[in-house]
Amino acid sequence: MRIIFKGGSVWSAGLGVFDGLAIEDGRIVATGPSALELAGEVVDLNGGFMMPGFIDGHAHPIFAGREARGPKVSNLQSVDEIKSEVARYAKENPDESWIIGGAYEAAIISGGNFDAHWLDEVVSDRPVVLHAVDHHTIWVNSKALEIAGISANTPNPDGGTIARRENGSPKGTLREPIAFDLILKHAPADSFESDLQAIKYACNELISAGVTTATECWVEPPMAEAYIAAAKSGALTIDMHLAFLVTPQNWQEQVAYIQELRAEISKLPEPRRLKANTIKFLTDGALSSGTAALTEPYLDNPESTGLKIWEDENLLAAVSVYDLLKFQAHIHAIGDGAIKQSLNTIEAMTKTNPKWDRRPVIVHAQLIEPNDLARFKELDVIANFQPLWTYLDPMNKELIEPRIGSERNNRQYQLRTLLDLETRISFGSDWPVTSHKPMDAIFIPVLRKVPGSSGEAWSFNEAITLEESLTAYTVNAAYQLFSENEIGKLEPGMRANFVILDKNPFETYEVDVKSVWIDGLEIKVN
Ligand SMILES: [Zn+2]
Repeated sequence: MRIIFKGGSVWSAGLGVFDGLAIEDGRIVATGPSALELAGEVVDLNGGFMMPGFIDGHAHPIFAGREARGPKVSNLQSVDEIKSEVARYAKENPDESWIIGGAYEAAIISGGNFDAHWLDEVVSDRPVVLHAVDHHTIWVNSKALEIAGISANTPNPDGGTIARRENGSPKGTLREPIAFDLILKHAPADSFESDLQAIKYACNELISAGVTTATECWVEPPMAEAYIAAAKSGALTIDMHLAFLVTPQNWQEQVAYIQELRAEISKLPEPRRLKANTIKFLTDGALSSGTAALTEPYLDNPESTGLKIWEDENLLAAVSVYDLLKFQAHIHAIGDGAIKQSLNTIEAMTKTNPKWDRRPVIVHAQLIEPNDLARFKELDVIANFQPLWTYLDPMNKELIEPRIGSERNNRQYQLRTLLDLETRISFGSDWPVTSHKPMDAIFIPVLRKVPGSSGEAWSFNEAITLEESLTAYTVNAAYQLFSENEIGKLEPGMRANFVILDKNPFETYEVDVKSVWIDGLEIKVN
């Protein structure tokens, strides 16, 4: 059956705005005037705005689903509010042996060191673990510290920190996954069943937001199996691209396992639904927690240049081995030191490994040393940014600026400079670190502030256009996922994956997702 969409604006990167689009058997068959001439069932766009479905190039859907089960502390503005939500959740879930949730705003406390005793006042009989919005920090109660056996005598683990009181005893805030693990290894493992539920939840949330393809950028062993089951049962309703996390300690032993999973996934009956061709490397922490790797020391701790997770040689060996196996590198790098290390690694690897269409990604790319800016284009590295982060939010203002000073703080997120250097920029939400909704994010790199807010624009010289913002979230994210011939553009032959917005975002900031179509089928959203 052929369907003709008309009576609104159709936008696709590089093609401008036109009216008319025809689809048949899940594919686009005509656009513009030639679509309007065709016969078929008509869908009236009602003055709405049709564009390619959003492609989230960096997200953590299972973590979002897991987090949605616990106490909902996101966006709460005081410790008291967080405590009452934890108390409510504990009361309503008396049988839950561990209370795990997120994600609290660490900037509401200066320095971000939250106290276990505050949580003890509402829950003391069971462990409580809350993730901070940066997802590089947790806040726990005393029961959790006790179960983990963390005391004044526990040293900081290699690559993580335990915030302490003056007498050396743990305060209740821990930073970086290696430190969380001291506690969370005692928690019941997330079951296959619960991850399956998390996938269902995440698919619904993403579709409602207009996202038709996403990435799972921190896949550890049981998670890929849950995705395979979800793909087989039909519970995976959007396209998902998996990136396996490897660490300096485990990357060698993981090679065989990851290859087996990729092979199994490639044989699924609907291969485009699930793909697994990417490896995630975490090279540093976060600026807000003082763990991003810098070339110059932190101002609040002149002894420290942050956390360098990989030794240079080990990172080069790992990236090179997976590159030889035709896995794409997806490298988390936030500080200028980590970004430099990542670029150096990619440069060294491309000199020795055979040439192929490898499309390496550096994700976050927050603070780049001036000399390194042009190297993204030179090395064909995709910079994946989180558009929602490109304004002076409380994290940048209250937590990051005191640690690195205003010059470095204001130099974050150089999207304009990178685009002018012809760098390919793609977008991702980093959900649940921040909102998965593109409508919350697309205007921020354009304005360098939240639309309608009274505050000033932040480093406005780095602002980009809305066209560039939407391009990063569609065509360029499709390119990042090696899918640019299938999705991200509204052209004849492409899959009929698109969203219809109620209004034109080039005319107003008040825009809602009205309907979402995947492979030519409408998926109703509220
Ligand atoms: Zn992430």
